[in-house]
Amino acid sequence: MTIQLPQLPYAEDALEPAISARTVSFHYGKHHAGYVQKTNELIAGQPYENASLEELILMSAPKPDSTMGILFDNAAQVWNHTFYWNSLTPADQPQSVPDSLRQLIDRDFGSVEALKAKLVRKGLTLFGSGWVWLVLENGGLRVVKTSNAGTPLTNPDQKPLLCIDVWEHAYYLDEQNRRADYLKQVTDNLLNWSFAAENLEKTEE
Ligand code: MN
Repeated sequence: MTIQLPQLPYAEDALEPAISARTVSFHYGKHHAGYVQKTNELIAGQPYENASLEELILMSAPKPDSTMGILFDNAAQVWNHTFYWNSLTPADQPQSVPDSLRQLIDRDFGSVEALKAKLVRKGLTLFGSGWVWLVLENGGLRVVKTSNAGTPLTNPDQKPLLCIDVWEHAYYLDEQNRRADYLKQVTDNLLNWSFAAENLEKTEE
């Protein structure tokens, strides 16, 4: 196994009640683990079998033929899900927004509440499956969405700070079709602002 499934940064029930242990169990243990397994199957015996996850994503992204397209979908989903788990914080450890990040949020969105509303709106206007991201682009914060396995990693101008999974498997066991309820709960209670601030600092290195 070349690509590893990273450990969840908290217990499976740590996101309750917003996201149930059952959802995390399937989402991490079946979906995320499944993307890892499929990626390893696709790279076994290939010249790029020892490439890093990031290298696999960048290598396969511009080549949407069948083999490379499938590799991109699986490798990017591995990376996106790891970023997603790190974008969330246990429900009993709610976070305030670090000052360095808050200054940029206030400048670019008006307030943290306005940013949360924008994340929810972006998720609601995403047709089908995909992701909502807070990114740094050309010195400014932006909320963007990607479809399916799409990831800002392939856009050299965008540095991801936070993400929210808006595939139905992220919320269907808990909220069924109510994507808005899921997005509201995540943005109000679970976002790991320290992780976002750490990612922001890395962009300044
Ligand atoms: Mn997912």
